[in-house]
Amino acid sequence: SAPGLSGWNLEHTYAELPALFYEHLDPTPVKEPRMVVFNHALAQTLGLNGSVLAERAAIFAGNELPEGAKPLAQAYAGHQYGNFTGLGDGRAILLGEQVTPAGERFDVQLKGSGPTPFSRRGDGRAALGPMLREYIISEAMHALGIPTTRSLAVAATGEKVWRQEVQPGAVLTRIAASHIRVGTFEWAAAHQNHEALKALAEYTLKRHYPDRAETNEPGLTLLRAVIERQAALIAQWQCVGFIHGVMNTDNVALSGETIDYGPCAFMDAFDPATVFSSIDRHGRYAYGNQPQMAQWNLARLAEALLPLLHADEKQAIEVANAEISSFRTLFEQRWLAGMRAKLGLFTEEVEDRALIEGLLTWMREQKADFTNAFRSLSSTEKNLPLEDAAFTAWHKQWQERLGRQPQSADEVQQCMQAHNPVVIPRNHKVEEALAAASERDDLTPMHHLLEVLARPFDHSRTLPAEYTTPSGVGPGEYQTF
Ligand code: AMP
Ligand code: MG
Ligand code: MG
Repeated sequence: SAPGLSGWNLEHTYAELPALFYEHLDPTPVKEPRMVVFNHALAQTLGLNGSVLAERAAIFAGNELPEGAKPLAQAYAGHQYGNFTGLGDGRAILLGEQVTPAGERFDVQLKGSGPTPFSRRGDGRAALGPMLREYIISEAMHALGIPTTRSLAVAATGEKVWRQEVQPGAVLTRIAASHIRVGTFEWAAAHQNHEALKALAEYTLKRHYPDRAETNEPGLTLLRAVIERQAALIAQWQCVGFIHGVMNTDNVALSGETIDYGPCAFMDAFDPATVFSSIDRHGRYAYGNQPQMAQWNLARLAEALLPLLHADEKQAIEVANAEISSFRTLFEQRWLAGMRAKLGLFTEEVEDRALIEGLLTWMREQKADFTNAFRSLSSTEKNLPLEDAAFTAWHKQWQERLGRQPQSADEVQQCMQAHNPVVIPRNHKVEEALAAASERDDLTPMHHLLEVLARPFDHSRTLPAEYTTPSGVGPGEYQTF
């Protein structure tokens, strides 16, 4: 059917999967829907009419359904901090899949839309602060060129939610390549439902890896493809200092997008042990552990896929192990490529790893700001710490290394400026924007921040220093929830 005035063009291929994977139900209406922020640029790429929809808070609060919606809550399981549990959308509803004018398919999901059969003891709701936080950081990640779910709108509900304190309620409209997670496969495996498992693997391949979908080994093909994308994704996180904070298997998307922005934050001073999340007491998801944790999560995917890998369990385990052990190398390759680009290296030398490690060691010892250190190296007006002997020694090595490649100084600088952001979502700026929005209904700081974060690689723009200086509070002092 032709999209109407609003541009909705919803399909429902996920609902063709076995019933095990979802429960149909509507969002629970809220008291007083009010639009807080609407993403016009994203609406346009989705084929949605922003000027009509930005006025329709009722849709984005879950009080009215868009044309063609068939709401459902997805079922899944997950390993949370290492422990297996049954989960599912406890506060989210999938409205459908928007097929864009370019023919791409995206889930449209309301988060904070009321209780579902999977809510356990939760209220099914979300607070305004955290939903705006997801909006800001996911859009910043997108601008950084990192695969991510996106944020179309945040609507206030006019209701209160009880967390550590009473907070205003809100609903986030999340756009994702899909919401299929490692936990979705764990759900099928836990039910020992091989038919469902196979159907899910084939569906996921078709949806996210269409050029690999013609295969009689859907389990192996999917596992390999997902490992490759996760390796690439985590390497990108490491290269900008992004700390996800809650890398449970229910928060790992098979599409390779970053998903579920809860206690995430960007690192200021370089330290692999950095943790911001208040509930991550043992640092399981610290910056430096992220690659290892991704591999652990992929091992859970492989485990769930075992019945599809080989009829004989022992042989299936061998196949799985071989694939999982490839992650480390794939990640290292991606990470090296990313770090080379940050240092303006076009060619490859075996010693590059040591050169990179040398800089990182110096940064850790000096507690150097991760973003600004790389930014200074890419800058013309070099304010480098040339009085520091250790740095000067490293700098000399780096200059010699640059001299052994054919690229000009201009090319090197262009490469570095394209890979080292000027600005990341600094914790104090994010908190300031959230406080203004949820305590005083003042969206101005948030809009300024979004505008700044939309062009992270624009090195020619002069920004007020507050956007680029670290917050001045260390991890341990700054905590996310
Ligand atoms: P998360 O930590 O955001 O990945 O969420 C883990 C699980 O808890 C998911 O199944 C969520 O849907 C569920 N959940 C989180 N918050 C709530 C809530 N307020 N009410 C109901 N379920 C929730
Ligand atoms: Mg989650
Ligand atoms: Mg969450």
